Amino acid sequence: MSRLSNTWIETHYPTRCNVPRVKALIGDSGTYGWVHRDAAVIFEALSLVFIAWGYEVRSAGSYNCRRIKGSRTWSSHSWAVSDDINPDTNPWAPWVGGRLVTDLPDDLIAYVENELVTVSGGLPVLFWGGRWNRHDPMHFQTIATPAETAAGINTPSGGIVSQYVRQGSSGPGVGELQAHLIGQGFDLGRWGPLNDGLDESYGGDTTAALAQWQNALGIVEYLNVSGSWAAQDPGTYAGPRTWAKLGAQGNKGEKGDPGEPGVAGSPGVKGERGVEGPQGDPGAGGSTGTKGDPGAKGDPGPVYIGTIEVVPKQAP
Ligand SMILES: [Zn+2]
Repeated sequence: MSRLSNTWIETHYPTRCNVPRVKALIGDSGTYGWVHRDAAVIFEALSLVFIAWGYEVRSAGSYNCRRIKGSRTWSSHSWAVSDDINPDTNPWAPWVGGRLVTDLPDDLIAYVENELVTVSGGLPVLFWGGRWNRHDPMHFQTIATPAETAAGINTPSGGIVSQYVRQGSSGPGVGELQAHLIGQGFDLGRWGPLNDGLDESYGGDTTAALAQWQNALGIVEYLNVSGSWAAQDPGTYAGPRTWAKLGAQGNKGEKGDPGEPGVAGSPGVKGERGVEGPQGDPGAGGSTGTKGDPGAKGDPGPVYIGTIEVVPKQAP
């Protein structure tokens, strides 16, 4: 059964239009949505991703007891397991094959799909509606069970997310990568203010050095592109496997751990992560996170401040 089907949702997040829900802050500007209590940790993790990317969340529409626009089918928003982020810049495109319009960065989506996973099993916890044929890029939907979520999910912490950089990226994350490479003796040219190659710009020299380093350690990075996992060309992506070896987490300023060779990431487990189901979930329903919960009686209750357990990532 597709985890996007209403049958699946009703099984794990009962009951439609009458679910226990809490207020989850999304982003760092006070925007919130009413989400299912058992999915709150997932949306807090999503919130951390937005913050790490500096992506401004102006609207987050979650709980809304309604049917899909133009259909008799109930919207997943009726179970509060979905959140619509900034509908104005991530509009629903109900035409099949229509152009995807979104201001969500590619690498933010890649992070959500690749790294926000259950600790047990490595399953993704959110589906992004931009993958539907009827693109709904504002839409993020829970696809983990409450039990899977309760057992732990990998969440972004500290500056780690910003370190997942690709060829063409720029910024401090690239600078950290370059510092590690220079520290290990790679020649990145004469770029940058100190002419040592550290210019926070991920170009050809950085790619060539990282390719050599990844190849030496047998590291292959994967990204989920349009629903399938693709190995990235050596040197073009410094993702979780690279940083696990660089020992970068919380170790700014330290030389990277060169690591032991021969421990390449196993792509085998990744194949199971596919999410099918092209049914679009049209329409944000005009729900915005800044409005009160339409179903709440009296005191809407405290802001959810549940803690997210930061757990070590699975061994690559
Ligand atoms: Zn939606």
